[in-house]
Amino acid sequence: MSAPFDHVAVIGLGLLGGSIGLALAEALPAARTTGYDRDPATRARAAERGLVGTVCASAAEAVAGADLVIFCVPPGAMGAAATEIAGAVNPGAVISDVGSCKVSVAEALGAALPTNPIIPAHPVAGTENSGPDAGFASLFRNRWCIITPPADADPALVARLTALWEALGARVELMEAAHHDRVLAVTSHLPHLIAYTIVGTASDLEEVTQSEVIKYSAGGFRDFTRIAASDPTMWRDVFLANKDAVLEMLQRFSEDLTSLQRAIRWGDGDTLFELFSRTRAIRRGIIEQGQDDARPDFGRSDHKS
Ligand code: NAP
Repeated sequence: MSAPFDHVAVIGLGLLGGSIGLALAEALPAARTTGYDRDPATRARAAERGLVGTVCASAAEAVAGADLVIFCVPPGAMGAAATEIAGAVNPGAVISDVGSCKVSVAEALGAALPTNPIIPAHPVAGTENSGPDAGFASLFRNRWCIITPPADADPALVARLTALWEALGARVELMEAAHHDRVLAVTSHLPHLIAYTIVGTASDLEEVTQSEVIKYSAGGFRDFTRIAASDPTMWRDVFLANKDAVLEMLQRFSEDLTSLQRAIRWGDGDTLFELFSRTRAIRRGIIEQGQDDARPDFGRSDHKS
């Protein structure tokens, strides 16, 4: 298959950057890949694992000659990382990213690289692991990648970026950046906030109770701990970068929680039953659409194969 881009530079060689490099090598072996990470230990490990064709000593070196640059750094680091390649990147090179929030990241990339075409993207795929050992080639398979082109984006470039993500196994959807941020606030950011809160509450309990919490965690807590183990830097940045949408969804959530609290206090079983039936149907829908696995471990034990 001919590659939609000849030379892809990946900045940030953690979970997302490493997975992109490995997936490109499998799906589009004709494309040249270079990469850079600010941490020398990460660069060394990335070279050992062959995450990209060439691991470079600087961001400028990595982007030289590239026709696509993908920033895979935390949302709050996008602006600084993009500033590092200004002057070194081809004027026509497409600048993209994988950040979990789109409005603020697009602004940061645009401010640093005002003359390059910028087409942000967000593969809705990840794990709670981070760093150069976390990436794997199949991460994007059958997962959504939301591309958020600005209104004046060149459709031909959007089509090439779409072809690249489809080659990596993703299903692509185009969306306006602000809409993306609202959707992800409720499907991803709020659940993470809730998980961080619940696990934090448990860790504040008296010691004896806390050990029981760990021992009997299969009763629901365990699934929250997986989410709450997600990278602290990235998630700090996500909440700061998508502040407005997250606060709006949090307000709605607090109102719904209060109404459930009232139903429990007044013994209103019908309200509880009606809600739990609706939510069960949503879970079935997610499994039917292939976005999760019905097995108790969610099939995660064989996701890395
Ligand atoms: P990660 O595993 O921590 O990798 C990020 C890497 O970028 C780290 O090695 C970090 O180095 C490096 N870095 C930070 N600033 C840099 C800079 N200025 N120049 C070069 N490298 C720099 O994180 P990740 O999970 O791959 O997340 C990367 C992006 O993907 C984030 O924007 C996140 O929103 C998005 N994303 C994540 C997921 C997920 O589930 N994790 C899913 C979808 C999208 P240090 O360790 O030294 O900081």
